[in-house]
Amino acid sequence: MFTFFKKRRRARLRATPTPDGWQRTIERNVPIVRRLPLADRQELFGHVQVFLAEKHFEGCGGLELTDEIRVTIAAQACLLLLHRDTDYYPRLTSILVYPSTYVVPGEHALGGGVWEEGDEPLLGHTQSNLSALVLAWDSALGGARAIDDGENVVFHEFAHQLDFESGDTDGTPPLESNARYASWARVLGSEFDALRRASETGSPTVLDDYGAENPAEFFAVATEAFFERPAELRAKHAALYDELRAFYRQDPAAWPGTSPA
Ligand SMILES: [Zn+2]
Repeated sequence: MFTFFKKRRRARLRATPTPDGWQRTIERNVPIVRRLPLADRQELFGHVQVFLAEKHFEGCGGLELTDEIRVTIAAQACLLLLHRDTDYYPRLTSILVYPSTYVVPGEHALGGGVWEEGDEPLLGHTQSNLSALVLAWDSALGGARAIDDGENVVFHEFAHQLDFESGDTDGTPPLESNARYASWARVLGSEFDALRRASETGSPTVLDDYGAENPAEFFAVATEAFFERPAELRAKHAALYDELRAFYRQDPAAWPGTSPA
């Protein structure tokens, strides 16, 4: 689609009033949205309209799709897009939703460079060479409703999509300038090394130690903590918090109702 028409169509979609039912669903199922400044909430609702118009949802494993499912997932995905000139996850076409944990056959990582053959139960995944993102609905909903535990599979998988936009799966989404790339590499590189060390010694940290797997997982896990444990992240990993705040152009630690560090 030509950019001019795409932009015009998206602007029209964003200006369309959000159905009351959607707003109620978002406020009930994605309570982190209630912490957003009013203008951000309006921006989010506009993004949700575009997202739902452009992405194809598919129910898998017998799941019957409802507006509740689509809107709950879209609102979380779109929270990562606020305040940026976004192309709405351009590499992503379809969101496949299973009712619950689903099983993927084949090789999977156990961590520490060890791989195992066999079935792996998953809550969600996406890959740069697929135009799809897969989610387990119970985890997508549970993660949305528990807003202070640092775990959110939808934020996690969509952070991977942002990472893919730069062309590589390396934990670096597209940034504004060379200076920003340099400070991102410096800060996230040293934080990643620190998480690897903490993970080896079993020391607890704000970041889930799954992030020690590789830089791409680190960015996805850091995104979950940024939105769901922001005050702790800011207190204990200030430089990382600042990089994420600059990228997401949001300051969740300052939102009313955010749990203190
Ligand atoms: Zn991941």
